[in-house]
Amino acid sequence: MSARPFLLLAFPALTAALCNEQGGARGDDRLANACGDSAAISWEPGTPREGTLFRVRLDHGTPGTTLSGEVGGEPLHFAPAPGADRAESFAAAPVDRSDSLAIRVFCSHGEQTDTLRASLVAARGEYPIERLRVAPTFGREPDSALAARIRRESDRAAAVAVGSHDTPRLWTEPFVRPRDSRITSGFGRGREFNGAITSRHMGTDFAGAIGAPVRAANRGVVRIVGSFYYGGNVVYVDHGLGLTSAYLHLSRQLVAEGDTVERGQVIGRVGATGRVTGPHLHLIVRYGRVTVDPVSLLTIAGDSAAARRPSS
Ligand SMILES: [Zn+2]
Repeated sequence: MSARPFLLLAFPALTAALCNEQGGARGDDRLANACGDSAAISWEPGTPREGTLFRVRLDHGTPGTTLSGEVGGEPLHFAPAPGADRAESFAAAPVDRSDSLAIRVFCSHGEQTDTLRASLVAARGEYPIERLRVAPTFGREPDSALAARIRRESDRAAAVAVGSHDTPRLWTEPFVRPRDSRITSGFGRGREFNGAITSRHMGTDFAGAIGAPVRAANRGVVRIVGSFYYGGNVVYVDHGLGLTSAYLHLSRQLVAEGDTVERGQVIGRVGATGRVTGPHLHLIVRYGRVTVDPVSLLTIAGDSAAARRPSS
């Protein structure tokens, strides 16, 4: 068990430290620390894998304090966990980041804010390299006009991802798979196109014939219905609290920007638009700007049986 020392280093009781960063509460109102003397940060699963969504928890916080926080530059959104002296938030561990991930929880009481800190080292993902041949126009470096288009589309998607932190939680039910079909390519695989451009597969591919239904992973507001160079016909859904999902390569989009969609609602049809080798659904899940394995969302916030389906 060579991983044991890492686990010990990451254990919150050893690394968490209280410090008063911004004092300011007046008179009797001031607490020794607004987080509470026995407050403790933990996370689930115990060792998150890079490229996954996980939960950050604060146990035994002080009643009446307002919690916020940050992991990897993304804000946290705490809510009470039912039946426990605990608040929880989603957080994301990015891929390709070997340093430790700092967790900061801010406890605010009046004008007093104290910070509780912890750090964790995410487990390395085991992501294979895949070599693909696609139509030559997609294998070359894009010219400047095309590069500008790709950048605009990526900026638009990023704005939706960041903006989702300001959207309240719009769902109550567990997340579901957008299709019941098998997963044909998992998240994180390295991809080499025509021996030239290497990238990571930052989503999950689901099998489907052209015209097969694509369902919203959960309730949310449609932020983008567009035609992107790489993604083809796309639909981006904002679920709130930083969580967004996107559905790429569609043959048809059945919703409009601004629509509220329900969990499982058919929002489009499988297609082969954009950069593809054949018809399929490419699903993206993000926590803020951090793209994560969609299966990790289904594992911690979805129908867990769905996440355990065979993936070959
Ligand atoms: Zn894909």
